[in-house]
Amino acid sequence: MISVDPSPPPVFDGHNDVLLRLYRRDGRAPETAFLEGGAAGHIDLPKARRGGLAGGLFAIFVPSGEDPGVENVMVRPAYDIPLPVSLALADARRATLHMAALLFRLVRASEGRVRLCRSAAEIDSCIADGALATVLHLEGAEAIDPDFHFLDVLHEAGLRSLGLVWSRPNAFGHGVPFRFPSTPDIGPGLTELGRALVKECNRRRILIDLSHLNEAGFWDVARLSDAPLVATHSNAHTLSPHSRNLTDRQLDAIRESGGLVGVNFATCFIRADGRKEADTSLGELIRHFDHLIERLGPDGVGFGSDFDGATVPREIGDASGLPGLIDAMRRHGYDQALLRKLTHENWLRILKITWGA
Ligand SMILES: [Zn+2]
Repeated sequence: MISVDPSPPPVFDGHNDVLLRLYRRDGRAPETAFLEGGAAGHIDLPKARRGGLAGGLFAIFVPSGEDPGVENVMVRPAYDIPLPVSLALADARRATLHMAALLFRLVRASEGRVRLCRSAAEIDSCIADGALATVLHLEGAEAIDPDFHFLDVLHEAGLRSLGLVWSRPNAFGHGVPFRFPSTPDIGPGLTELGRALVKECNRRRILIDLSHLNEAGFWDVARLSDAPLVATHSNAHTLSPHSRNLTDRQLDAIRESGGLVGVNFATCFIRADGRKEADTSLGELIRHFDHLIERLGPDGVGFGSDFDGATVPREIGDASGLPGLIDAMRRHGYDQALLRKLTHENWLRILKITWGA
């Protein structure tokens, strides 16, 4: 009898920037571009279907006015990219509303093929129906006012996940700059408003994302939050000493809280030399899975691709390349039960605990 590998399990992914890509593009209407596909970019509906991408956290990230030139610098042996200036609340809010509306229009135009999910049960239904599950995430809280009125509005509109900061500082805390090699222990902890935002997210059961936060801010959230600690798209600092990656001490705290780390496919956070380089082997990425599974246990690791926000290994290419990665993980020795946990079961369990439904 010929043994046949089981088919790759569906993927629920912790981070993508497809809304930013669609926001920046011109030409075709964004919803048409996404639903019909056929253009550059990592995620559209046809690529998601080919790759078994069942859903994920869709980030609203408000770009700064000027381009900090990240892409050109991260090929050097060492780098420290200056942080862009802080965003004004009104500018952040305008772009946030635009990208949220973009997702809502896309969902509407998809006629059920793409759905906005507010609960883990809704994600389960999407997986059962073969629809793409989207969860609204805010990467950097610049659009939120000190009275948290806009947080209520976004929550009612579907927001279920929030990172207090992207890399630039804001009213809530300090992110890490794109610096290599570097400790993540750069700058002070959360501001008073940042500590209040942690509590407000806990009250509304919005997931708090630790990726991008500096180490002092990380420990503030660890002390204050009543939810499992989650970094949606970060890797192991011991393998790639980038400011954006997590030290073993941080990983131990995440494990203790019953939390999760989504493994980031960005080559600059994978490689031991911190370089942005598409010629990065899947083996180098799988080493991060190995290390994170060792520190967090098999229930504490998921995917956090950073699709449409980063240079990923050429062998993955885009969302349609996910089965190739899963196949490499299988050949590396991960069995089907572990692959199911890593691809979607761990994410769904964490979201259910955090959201309460
Ligand atoms: Zn990010």
